[in-house]
Amino acid sequence: MFKAKAYSAASKTSPLASAAIPRRDPTERDVQIDILFCGICHSDLHYARDEWHEVMPAVYPCVPGHEIVGCVTKVGSAVTRYQAGDLVGIGCLVDSDHTCRHCQEELEQFCPGMVLTYGSPDRHGTAPVTYGGYSDSIVVDERFVLRIPPNLDPAGAAPLLCAGITTYSPMRHWKVGEGKKVGVVGLGGLGHMGVKFAHAFGAHTVVFTTSPGKTEDAKRLGADEVVVSKNADEMRKHAGSFDFILDCVAAPHDVNAYINLLARDGNLTMVGAPDKPLPVAVFGLIFGRRSFSGSPIGGLAETQEMLDFCGRHNITADVEVIPVQKINEAYERMVRSDVKYRFSIDMASLKSE
Ligand code: NAP
Ligand code: ZN
Repeated sequence: MFKAKAYSAASKTSPLASAAIPRRDPTERDVQIDILFCGICHSDLHYARDEWHEVMPAVYPCVPGHEIVGCVTKVGSAVTRYQAGDLVGIGCLVDSDHTCRHCQEELEQFCPGMVLTYGSPDRHGTAPVTYGGYSDSIVVDERFVLRIPPNLDPAGAAPLLCAGITTYSPMRHWKVGEGKKVGVVGLGGLGHMGVKFAHAFGAHTVVFTTSPGKTEDAKRLGADEVVVSKNADEMRKHAGSFDFILDCVAAPHDVNAYINLLARDGNLTMVGAPDKPLPVAVFGLIFGRRSFSGSPIGGLAETQEMLDFCGRHNITADVEVIPVQKINEAYERMVRSDVKYRFSIDMASLKSE
């Protein structure tokens, strides 16, 4: 066991602060990684503040962070896929049961025995729960380590590990592509990746935002049209026209307004995870045989596929790189939708703690 530097929250009301955490020495199948960058996902904030208490109660101290890019420093004796010096990524999962139907279908995100990067019981007994990527290092089973294409900027690649796969996976599932009209609701970390993918897949891409000031950015990111969702006339123009809408909003909002924009057989997928239930007017679904669904992250194979796709198309997140000491300020800005479009923590800043 060794001590790593980290930023952790001691309770749902405490700011994140510097702490030392235990990490296991790499076992046979493990890879030890020096973390270079870690993205800040809104899920980190929901979890650290225990906003998802009813579904996923937080355990403290908690070290969030599941958008990790780093450099391999050590590997266990049975590791075959990685060696010291490799640029690698860790997303939201660090283990699963490897045997269930979902694991066999390479859909580990549905495994009942999945181990999340932070907040899951630690099977190795190093700590009560797993600790995430707001840290200078992490040790992970090689089967949950991903390869980062070398042409991608590591700070901008980090958010691909959650925001990237969470938007890529449902778009692939619902066959977003040429000839399809696709909406992306909420231009934050997930939303801006959704726009990049929808555009790269060749769909006609429409962004819905509550922030008029994001219009030009949305177009630069690949949107064909931008709708300020508070404007009812603009919303009405798109009624009944979408094949697919990806809702990336982190707070309670009216999903019926978007269900009504779907074409016949259209689908609205929630990836945004507000802490409160969202009322759904079922007639909006019945008339038009529309569907309303959700999607969690993605499996390991699909995450690697997404990273390779990003490597070929030179896609990374638009990031504001911050030192770890600015995490709490970044959280406050995220609550105000003031992120362009993902914070990526430069872990070199942890050295001075
Ligand atoms: P984020 O960067 O904070 O972006 C959320 C965006 O939602 C904001 O930028 C804003 O966009 C919009 N928004 C915020 N409050 C709103 C409100 N009251 N009404 C309408 N729109 C509002 O968050 P994120 O990191 O992208 O995460 C988004 C959500 O996805 C979070 O709930 C997160 O937990 C969840 N998530 C889910 C998964 C999964 O596996 N399903 C994975 C990762 C994250 P505009 O300014 O454009 O309106
Ligand atoms: Zn996330």
